[in-house]
Amino acid sequence: MNPPVDPWSLDVAIQAMPAWFWTITAFLFGAVVGSFLNVCIHRLPRGHSVVSPRSRCYACGKSIRWFDNLPIVSYLLLGGKCRDCGAPFSIRYWMVEWLTAFLFIIIWRSFPPAEATVYTIFACGLIVATFVDFEHYIIPNEITLGGIAIGIICSGLVPSLQDEIFASKALLKSLLGAAAGYFILWGVVEAGKCFLGIKKLALPEPTQVTLTSEGILIDSNLDRWEDIFSRESDVLSFQGTQIRYGEKTLEKGEVQVNYKEVKIGDEVLKLEELPETKATTELIYVPREAMGFGDVKFLAAIGAFLGYKGVIFTIFASSLIGSLAGLFIILIGKREWGLKLPYGPYLALAAMLWLFGGAHWYDIFIAPGMEVLLGESILKITNFIFA
Ligand SMILES: [Zn+2]
Repeated sequence: MNPPVDPWSLDVAIQAMPAWFWTITAFLFGAVVGSFLNVCIHRLPRGHSVVSPRSRCYACGKSIRWFDNLPIVSYLLLGGKCRDCGAPFSIRYWMVEWLTAFLFIIIWRSFPPAEATVYTIFACGLIVATFVDFEHYIIPNEITLGGIAIGIICSGLVPSLQDEIFASKALLKSLLGAAAGYFILWGVVEAGKCFLGIKKLALPEPTQVTLTSEGILIDSNLDRWEDIFSRESDVLSFQGTQIRYGEKTLEKGEVQVNYKEVKIGDEVLKLEELPETKATTELIYVPREAMGFGDVKFLAAIGAFLGYKGVIFTIFASSLIGSLAGLFIILIGKREWGLKLPYGPYLALAAMLWLFGGAHWYDIFIAPGMEVLLGESILKITNFIFA
């Protein structure tokens, strides 16, 4: 005999309406949420509130009217321009609205309601992380640390996310996933610093280097600032002698450069207004990290939602996608080796792939080797805890 059907259950309500109704609902809801994600992408890295004030044109500062702020359609009706001053709005706003709407549809069509709700929240975090990382090379703590907390809470509320029936087991799996994401990528970042990172650039003898607003010239090789700095915290520094900048000379002092400022001794100059500066040095500290701490926290958040298997898959898939993308960019001649690209978007894409077939690929390609190396020991620990 079938179990009695609860007439008020969400499943019954969902089945009462045709599929196309839910597809359109998911699309509209996704577009509205995408519009809000645009606000988050713009404001979170700048430390502004995402709630107030209302959206403004970044060129003329006028508030955007409600009927010009409709997701997807307003961008088309206005031709991507401000109604008041005609300043163009980035196509990114429109893309994020479409992307969010599209993901809401496929998530709602692929998962039962409780899981779909959590995965749409998860997808929102991935979208914000991706677009902020592209522009600023950081992933905001609201997304990474907030994601870890939300992932753990949601796993407790919806244990099926972690393939469990009981909340306690799902919580533990979520914690394990977050820990796996954190420590594995932390290890990768530390190892990268040791083996790959050219943190010190030692010159064979005291050499005169030239700094301009464009980049640094060493032995007639120009390294552009945009290729050297990949995050706001990156600093190039050296101890120099005979430092000449503009009309001034400093016998001896430290020079520090970041993406917007140059510090010579005690004086701070804007990088874009830097006069040609010459100095003699033999050791330059150059930031060379493929990944940052933001990526470590981001993978921990992904692990809180997907568990440790999802983490292992995300590492494999993101490095594969990243290598292919890097190779492609070099092949089309846009950048050179040692290029700087944010890693967050690859992590986000790989985490999304886990939801749509990644678990299957994991079983075929990764599990046979990984279970022996890593998974088996984690499994033994979890079995021990749950026994
Ligand atoms: Zn305007």
